[in-house]
Amino acid sequence: MSFSTPALLVIAMLAILVVGRIIKSPEAPGRIAFGLAAVASIWWIAMVALRLNSVELSDKILFSRLAWFGIIATPLFWSAGFLDHAGFSQVTRRLPITIILSVSALAGFAALTDGYHGWIYTGVLNEERPSFSHGWLFYALLGGMYLCMLLACLMSISQLKRAARLHRRQMVALLVATCVPWGCNAAFNLFGFRLFDDDPTPFAFSATVLAVLFAQHRGKLFIAPPIARDIIFSILPDPIVVLEPSGLVLETNPAAERLTGFSAETVGTKLPPSHPLMAFVAADAQMDTGKPIVRFDAMQKIFEVSTQPLEQWGRRGSVMIVLRDVTAREAAQKSLSDAGQSLKLRLEENLRLQEQLKQQAYHDHLTGLFNRRHASTVIPPLISGASESAPVSLIIVDLDHFKQVNDRYGHDVGDKVLSSFAVILGDSLKGAEMAFRYGGEEFLVVLPATTRDQALEHCARWRRELASHAIAELKDVALSFSAGIALAPHAGTSLAACTKAADVALYRAKISGRNMDIVWGEHLGGMVPERPAGQSTADDHNSCTVKSG
Ligand code: GH3
Ligand code: MG
Ligand code: MG
Repeated sequence: MSFSTPALLVIAMLAILVVGRIIKSPEAPGRIAFGLAAVASIWWIAMVALRLNSVELSDKILFSRLAWFGIIATPLFWSAGFLDHAGFSQVTRRLPITIILSVSALAGFAALTDGYHGWIYTGVLNEERPSFSHGWLFYALLGGMYLCMLLACLMSISQLKRAARLHRRQMVALLVATCVPWGCNAAFNLFGFRLFDDDPTPFAFSATVLAVLFAQHRGKLFIAPPIARDIIFSILPDPIVVLEPSGLVLETNPAAERLTGFSAETVGTKLPPSHPLMAFVAADAQMDTGKPIVRFDAMQKIFEVSTQPLEQWGRRGSVMIVLRDVTAREAAQKSLSDAGQSLKLRLEENLRLQEQLKQQAYHDHLTGLFNRRHASTVIPPLISGASESAPVSLIIVDLDHFKQVNDRYGHDVGDKVLSSFAVILGDSLKGAEMAFRYGGEEFLVVLPATTRDQALEHCARWRRELASHAIAELKDVALSFSAGIALAPHAGTSLAACTKAADVALYRAKISGRNMDIVWGEHLGGMVPERPAGQSTADDHNSCTVKSG
């Protein structure tokens, strides 16, 4: 027994250990293919060990031929596992695995029947080892294996940049594990390199096995494999669609199929230009502010859109569109804004009503002038600020014989007269001057900083305008009024005193024949409720001046 036999047995033991590890490890990409590669390599190593311990040339040839089942299956399964781990999971589906098993079985069968056709071995060069001259199938199989492993290595290397650190370490370990037996086999076949005077490939598998064990131990090869990428894509609740600039759908995830009406069949078809997602494949579609919203009316869904150009991944112009379902959020926002809007309307209505109430509280509804209540609020400060140099005139105006107007023409016409006179008063006022409806057909006018003459001028003007004011229904009736004028502070410094004085003057005007204006204090006989200090009291009606109209 040569030295190589125990070495091979050790390798076989290690390979069995790897298979055990793989069987016990959880589901991981490459797991099945690596396991099958390990089983195939155990077969290969076992055949080499048996051949090394055979004496008869026929036995040696038989074991060499039997080894072909493993020689082909090992690198093919290895490449498949390697690719699966790198993310190309399609290679470990049922069909590729069946193809690998079939190719390996056919190669083994071709080796066993080589005596009849000589496609693999054409002759024995060295009976002791033994070594052979080779036929076309040998080179075809060898080339095929090399190509498979080369492709697996290149495709895995292409994924290195994207892989996470741990997974990159796993991939590098697997790459090394691939290169060692591959390099040894190339050296043996091309340059006749030998180990223990034999093919170094089976020995080199010890390096492979060790590398897998190392990758498992340090790199958690089957414990923390790169499985998340596919899983994330498939379980992510957000729809993901990958589009080419032409609108060709390259990829969709299950969420996109569920939420946006896409289906597995959509992949490979073109979206119509009117499709809402087409807005995001245009070259200038990179949004600079906020995340745009897209509506799928058919599904009654609203999505927020994030786009990721795929130029970095070698797909210039293509874009990955990630949609986030914001239907509920948008609905909540809309109902919030609707509620805000109706609240705003109600608030405005409230303010309007408040304003209306305020107007009603201060104004007389028939004439639109201020009412008596408002007079008691705004006039006192004016009167208390009055001085001899800037007196405040308070005028009470009472329409003459108004009852007759009502009686003859009706209450409505009476109302019309009251409103018309209110307009006459209102139009004549400016600045701080104010007119109030004081009673039924009585009006109170306050004129700050106004002398008696100016007050009388006002009265004269109102009288003129009232006389000339045409109210169709009144026909030939001439309207007139009487006015009592009190000047603060002369007549008093309170509203009560001044209105009382004005009332006295008015009364005087009435009893003096109406259609005239009387200034309190300028005619004997006025009543004076409150006297400024140092002034004589005039408490009868004679203390008024008559200005007849
Ligand atoms: P005098 O010259 O002495 O003031 O006589 P008069 O008829 O104007 O005075 P009187 O106090 O006798 O009558 C006032 C009338 O004013 C009685 C009432 O029917 C009427 N009146 C009071 N308020 C209103 C109103 O809002 N609309 C109408 N149309 N009439 C009113
Ligand atoms: Mg009256
Ligand atoms: Mg009257």
